[in-house]
Amino acid sequence: MANILQPVRGTRDLIGDDAARHFHVVETARRITALYGFAEWQTPIFEDTKVFSRTLGETSDVVTKEMYTFDDRGGDSITLRPEGTAGVCRALITGGLTQTLPQKVFYTGPMFRYERPQKGRYRQFHQIGIELLGPATALADAEVIAAGWQILRALGIAETVELQVNTLGDAESRTAYREKLVAYFSQYAAELSEDSKLRLEKNPLRILDSKDEGDKKLVEGAPQMQASLTDEARAFFDSLQNHLNRFGVPFIHNPTIVRGLDYYNHTAFEFVTTALGAQGTVLAGGRYDGLVEQMGGPSVPGVGWAAGIERLSMLITAPPTAAVPVTVIPMNSDSEAQALEILKLLRAQNIAAEIGYSGNAKKRLERANKSGAAFVVLVGEDIKLKNLETGEQQDVTAENLPGLLRA
Ligand code: ATP
Ligand code: MG
Repeated sequence: MANILQPVRGTRDLIGDDAARHFHVVETARRITALYGFAEWQTPIFEDTKVFSRTLGETSDVVTKEMYTFDDRGGDSITLRPEGTAGVCRALITGGLTQTLPQKVFYTGPMFRYERPQKGRYRQFHQIGIELLGPATALADAEVIAAGWQILRALGIAETVELQVNTLGDAESRTAYREKLVAYFSQYAAELSEDSKLRLEKNPLRILDSKDEGDKKLVEGAPQMQASLTDEARAFFDSLQNHLNRFGVPFIHNPTIVRGLDYYNHTAFEFVTTALGAQGTVLAGGRYDGLVEQMGGPSVPGVGWAAGIERLSMLITAPPTAAVPVTVIPMNSDSEAQALEILKLLRAQNIAAEIGYSGNAKKRLERANKSGAAFVVLVGEDIKLKNLETGEQQDVTAENLPGLLRA
């Protein structure tokens, strides 16, 4: 016998309870983002590599070691998208929408990162996300965060999750802060991890986001952004906090949140749970005012977040899956044609119904009982409707069946 083919490392199948939880997350997010006026977009799963390499930052983990990049048969460099924001901004520009603002986008779908697979970390994973493109005010940031929080609440996990917000300031604040960080980390250059030595030269802010234990110790003593903020950046952050209070979203200020990608400014935030160990961030994002310009478009400010569906799924219980309520059973081979007519009629009337494919009537009745169906329609000389919960049985006609089943 040939070897059984295996799924690719870091990928998983969504079946049964896993699928139910996954789609419950997606449907909840779709429903709640619509309440905030977001519309769903779908962009391609692969893009020109430059869509990501130009925007995510040359020292980001994603660009340096996690991208699925390959040359296609025409010799073009293609990358399976590692995140959703860059593709949405590319679509905004190439779709000619940069003058039609605001655009409020919801998306969901698979993302790809070459990472070491572990609990809550896969090579193909899935995200829900929103982007609010156009407004540069802190109200937009607060609304985007509030939508995320309402989704977590609807999923029943808001209680175990903490919202941590921070500001990365504007360009001026960052230049000042960068200098202080370089001065601080340079004293410990020899102790930094190899990755962070490189970051010290290219993007010292990124060291704050390091997962290396040695780096983390040094980060504890690092200067904080607050002291370097311009008045404008400080006012933006104050305004964000006021709006969050108005929306009734609880939060704490965590000065070490910088986010992993280069394009963020002003607001950065994460919803963190203690329930998943090291993979604690379930929903994260921030403001990215320079991103659209970096891709060759005009200046369009933006703010958004993404959440890992797998991590959210681990925190929720699946909603009960509804059984197909009606099973149609032909009592003998002569009644099969009429059973199919009834099946067609019910489905045309939006009543979910199925038919047993084989076996005698008794077997099929047993199977219907097991499936959790509420009713069986027994089709023989005459037509009978049986309520499987009460055991009641009545004679019916095909025509009055839909009415009876809907009642
Ligand atoms: P982490 O610090 O866990 O690597 P990240 O900062 O790389 O996360 P983002 O790029 O902000 O993550 O992506 C947003 C969310 O997507 C994360 O909070 C997480 O829930 C999810 N996510 C990211 N990478 C993976 C992965 N490899 N497998 C499953 N979920 C992931
Ligand atoms: Mg990561």
